[in-house]
Amino acid sequence: MSNAALSVITSDSPEKWQEILADLITDPKELTEILQLESTGSVNSRLARSGLSEFSLKVPRPFAQRMQPGNWSDPLLRQVWPSQLEDEVDCSLSEDPLQERSFNQATGLLHKYQGRVLLTAAPHCAVHCRYCFRRHFDYAANTPGKQQWRETLSQISRDSSISEVILSGGDPLAAGDNLIQWLLTQIDSLKQVTTIRIHTRLPVVIPQRITNSLCQTLSSVDSKLVIVIHCNHSQEIDSSVQLAMQKLRSTGATLMNQTVLLRGINNDAETLVSLSHKLFDMDVLPYYLHVPDRVTGTGHFLVDDQEGLKLIAKIRSILPGYLVPQLVREDPGSNSKTRLG
Ligand SMILES: *Cc1c(COP(=O)(O)O)cnc(C)c1O
Ligand code: SF4
Repeated sequence: MSNAALSVITSDSPEKWQEILADLITDPKELTEILQLESTGSVNSRLARSGLSEFSLKVPRPFAQRMQPGNWSDPLLRQVWPSQLEDEVDCSLSEDPLQERSFNQATGLLHKYQGRVLLTAAPHCAVHCRYCFRRHFDYAANTPGKQQWRETLSQISRDSSISEVILSGGDPLAAGDNLIQWLLTQIDSLKQVTTIRIHTRLPVVIPQRITNSLCQTLSSVDSKLVIVIHCNHSQEIDSSVQLAMQKLRSTGATLMNQTVLLRGINNDAETLVSLSHKLFDMDVLPYYLHVPDRVTGTGHFLVDDQEGLKLIAKIRSILPGYLVPQLVREDPGSNSKTRLG
């Protein structure tokens, strides 16, 4: 039997999504070659130095396929390209603008808001979004092993005020099926927890992650399950993403989307309206439109509150209320996200 045939029947052969995850584009030069961008001017002058060394390039190939060749202004490329603008020094930005370090009570646990705790369920993401508010987060120190997970879970179980556990990251779906299944089962068995929420960008950047076996695991959760995908532009949604969302829908989960409002990517009404329509076509409701956090290296993405408010007013005049996301900002020390407008 040939090796290829063998690997098909070996039960621990990697799944397609794991192969994609192991074969990310990490070299800026390769990305510019794939997108035929080399002839359009010097690549080096467009590339961050310090920004790139502290937060590497990571792009899944299925996501790169949705970018328009030859276009430096492509809204998907801009989300992942380590631009020279990241190196600009801006003293009004900080590495931990949300002061998360002070809310970090146990390994992998963030408890800021009443009734809800957030678990950093995976130490990495499938993509590096340049605007990421956790680009300086110390995942290594916040990646529990099973014993630490047990302690964290037992801490949650002792707090009767917690009814919702949120799996965030990193990207929780970047973890393997075994860990996800184990965690969900453990959380599901906590008496006071009624809702499990998963925040993930994987159904968008590697839709192949939504396998039948993952869906089976999600279907077996007794708690209410909420899945919030992170999609910033309608161009991110192709037929493979639509299929992934259809599968997630069939698990009975409530599906929502969170968008980060990004200068030069989606800060216009037409783009946001088109995104809401495309999400709704997949039974996904818009949840938050998040003003970017003021993180070092991301100044070029910032949209100020006034502009955000104008945009929301404009899309509210076009869309039904249920397709208008809530414009929010995160303020350190606040007991909820801050609604604007
Ligand atoms: C955003 C966030 C939540 C969830 O807040 P919702 O308004 O319920 O979406 C929970 N914990 C932390 C630490 C958060 O940043
Ligand atoms: S998927 Fe989310 S956590 Fe991961 S890099 Fe992108 S914005 Fe950051």
